[in-house]
Amino acid sequence: MSCTVCGNGERVPATKPYVEERDGRIAVVTGVPVTVCESCGETWLEASVAHALDALLTEILSQDTLGVRAFTEPAPAA
Ligand SMILES: [Zn+2]
Repeated sequence: MSCTVCGNGERVPATKPYVEERDGRIAVVTGVPVTVCESCGETWLEASVAHALDALLTEILSQDTLGVRAFTEPAPAA
């Protein structure tokens, strides 16, 4: 699929760390699966990944001032 931002690059799968700060607390999630444009560097999250990431961030931020976790895929629906 080609990039909708720059119109030049191809969108390719990659993994990236994601950093979120809320109320002075910081959560880092590593290995988040994204799609990234080879040309302009724009990144996209799948809706299911964004949902799982948000749940993980909320969990980390409710427990720690600074938390680092590896991204885990949500269990596939049976
Ligand atoms: Zn692009």
